[in-house]
Amino acid sequence: MKKVLVIGGGPSGLMAAIAAARAGAQTTVLEAGAKPGRKLLLTGNGRCNLTNLNERIASMYDSSDPEFARAMVRSVLSRFGVQDTLDFFRQEGLLTCVEHQTYVYPVTGQSGSVLEILLRTLQALKVKMKYSEEVIEIERRDPAPGSEENTCLWNVRTKTWNYEADSVILCCGSRAVPSTGSNGSGYELCRMLGLDVTDVLPGLTAVSCRLPAPEARAYVPGSRNKNSAAQEMKNMEDPFYAAAGTRTQAVVSVLSDGEVIAQERGQLQFTQQDLSGIVVFNLSRTVVRALHQGHDVTISLDLLPDHTEDQVDILIQSMREKYDGISEEKILCGLVPSRMIPAVLALCELTGNRLAYILKHFTLKASRLREFDSAQVCVGGVRTTELNPDTLECVSEDLKGIYLAGELIDIDGPCGGYNLQWAWSSGYTAGLHAAQ
Ligand SMILES: Cc1cc2nc3c(=O)[nH]c(=O)nc-3n(C[C@H](O)[C@H](O)[C@H](O)COP(=O)(O)OP(=O)(O)OC[C@H]3O[C@@H](n4cnc5c(N)ncnc54)[C@H](O)[C@@H]3O)c2cc1C
Repeated sequence: MKKVLVIGGGPSGLMAAIAAARAGAQTTVLEAGAKPGRKLLLTGNGRCNLTNLNERIASMYDSSDPEFARAMVRSVLSRFGVQDTLDFFRQEGLLTCVEHQTYVYPVTGQSGSVLEILLRTLQALKVKMKYSEEVIEIERRDPAPGSEENTCLWNVRTKTWNYEADSVILCCGSRAVPSTGSNGSGYELCRMLGLDVTDVLPGLTAVSCRLPAPEARAYVPGSRNKNSAAQEMKNMEDPFYAAAGTRTQAVVSVLSDGEVIAQERGQLQFTQQDLSGIVVFNLSRTVVRALHQGHDVTISLDLLPDHTEDQVDILIQSMREKYDGISEEKILCGLVPSRMIPAVLALCELTGNRLAYILKHFTLKASRLREFDSAQVCVGGVRTTELNPDTLECVSEDLKGIYLAGELIDIDGPCGGYNLQWAWSSGYTAGLHAAQ
């Protein structure tokens, strides 16, 4: 019977162990923490958005090698896709429901149910679960030349024990929210094996922003806005201060060195230093890559996406004609949430642009990367080209029997259940092949 070791008891590791055990392997999971699935419990605000019914799911993932990665995702999802995932959970007794047309959650509304179902399945399959076992080294054990000995190929060392295995599946996660156990040690194990690991950055985060170009800061406020909202903003050194708490619909564009590189529409939220909301989280993957490459990154908000700039201009003009001497603040009260008015006026004054232009191009500078603590996933990881896209086994001859799954691989998806689907699909694929 083949011996399979799974390193990491998160969603990808638990699914890998189920697939390996179902395929007949003697399977053990080594988990560094005292409990499995700590990040899984946090998902979907504790409700676990476990997959997404988007028919074009494979095109939603990103990577440093996007073409190769998408081919890998397509191949892996063709073996164990969204429907297989839903069937798996249903057969194990978990019912799901759909929100926002495509987001799938357990009907219980509790991520704990998903974890419970996985652990129950593992127990029935007699998978050994070893907790507080952090893997620190993986070594190849080549039999002595001429030896007839039929030994396991891999030796896996934790702080307390040595485990032997024919196949090892690394499912150690990323560096996002390290307190859940995914603290980046998986990347170190992969580097020790000689695998190429890209730079790893926090993804799916809010985006910290500040006033736009330095020349805008140096702009001397003109006379058109006597209440000097801009001065107030400057004093606060933060354009969001007044707008904090506002939620509004917008088309959000990410510009790198002045060129639009990504765009999405949705509800965004202002906090005191950040832009937040699902739309911003999704775009943050592009922002961090561009900032990391040293580009000048700006975020432009179209705050009135259903109206053209001309239409907005005409409406503003008609208000000025109808109400003689009306202040810009009063004009804006029908166009943007009240807390945003000072920020809009400040940007008009600082840049010298018209109100209608600012409402359609509310532009801020993306200032810095957020911390791993506040990231839902990581951008980057072990290069996809290190792996066979059909089996997720390492392509190097020296690493036969080593498989990877989950977020450790340089593939990340947007919000909406895509990252867990990658964990289920890649875990299942690696587990199945590792057992064969
Ligand atoms: C707050 C939050 C909300 C999220 N919500 C969603 C959502 O609703 N839908 C969605 O699709 N995605 C969501 N995600 C992303 C999703 O949780 C991850 O993509 C997913 O958990 C990755 O699974 P994984 O098994 O690859 O890694 P992880 O879940 O990180 O599991 C890795 C495991 O490996 C263990 N480990 C690490 N190193 C070692 C070692 N050396 N030895 C032994 N064990 C080790 C860790 O302790 C950990 O248990 C969310 C993430 C966060 C942080």
